Amino acid sequence: MEKILEVKNLRVSYHTYAGEVQSVRGISFDVEKGEALAIVGESGCGKSVTSRAIMSIIEKPGEIKKDSKIIYKGENILEFNKKQLQNYRGGECAMIFQDALTSLNPTMKVGKQIAENLVIHRGMNRKQAMEEAVKMLKLVGIPNPETRVNQYPHEFSGGMRQRVMIAIALACSPKLLIADEPTTALDVTIQAQIIELIKDLQQKIGSSVVIITHDLGVVADIADRVVVIYAGQIVEKGRTEEIFYNPKHPYTWALLNAVPRLDLENKQELYTIKGTPPDLIAPPKGCGFAQRCKYCMKICLEQQPENFTFEDGHEAACWLNHPDVPKDNIEFFNND
Ligand code: SF4
Ligand code: MG
Repeated sequence: MEKILEVKNLRVSYHTYAGEVQSVRGISFDVEKGEALAIVGESGCGKSVTSRAIMSIIEKPGEIKKDSKIIYKGENILEFNKKQLQNYRGGECAMIFQDALTSLNPTMKVGKQIAENLVIHRGMNRKQAMEEAVKMLKLVGIPNPETRVNQYPHEFSGGMRQRVMIAIALACSPKLLIADEPTTALDVTIQAQIIELIKDLQQKIGSSVVIITHDLGVVADIADRVVVIYAGQIVEKGRTEEIFYNPKHPYTWALLNAVPRLDLENKQELYTIKGTPPDLIAPPKGCGFAQRCKYCMKICLEQQPENFTFEDGHEAACWLNHPDVPKDNIEFFNND
């Protein structure tokens, strides 16, 4: 398969008064042409920072470390000049943000916001671009697009605004679509519709999708492959079926256990992962999950777990998978 994106040893820090927060600590993964890749993890694990880095929109006090590489079609976008970045963003790669309300321009009619990109990236004149904007609104399922195109964001409901943002993102048929928690702010029915819409458009346009989510339901629905992130590092990656049916990392086990189940009918308390992620100003020497892991062994506190490869590109970074490591479980933690 042809790779459209290669993220190599991505490291991103935020400089705060308390110190340097190492939000992303050496993340590497690929995105293949036409595939949907999900990045999952709890909030604060580095998912959104990773997605913003792919768009090269990390702002101060954030900093992408020098040895990081984000290769798009063979070129490192972190070395792009202003003009190249402008072509890349919107023309090649587009992003749907978590919250449409803060991402749309409140003072500009939605049609104009869609048309703008078409004028810049597709060389259309204003009339053509506005006609295309109407088509896009129709495509994302907004009723009466001819009227809606002349309305402002505040005249749309939350779900409809999210659709408008998708229309903006997809107007130029991006080859790579980054969707950061695209349905979190929406109610469940609309969430399902938006996911269907992204899937549909992915098939129509043939783009690759990177979807950032903490919702494993969304992952099962849309993703071909999954990357699980914890404390700024990848702990497991593999094909979606592998991650769901044959997970190898205790954090992935915990995430899967935390999925709400309809069949429990509230009789059983929802499983939550106890404890909090480590302080990324002073990240732990060993495994980042150690303080919350009931399988923690001595070595886990001392050394970063090595990455183990199973079949089909399925990898996990956990000492449990090492055949020669003494399984001296540290009862002290008692994390169940
Ligand atoms: Fe748990 Fe150790 Fe694996 Fe980390 S390396 S997830 S602490 S068993
Ligand atoms: Mg986020």
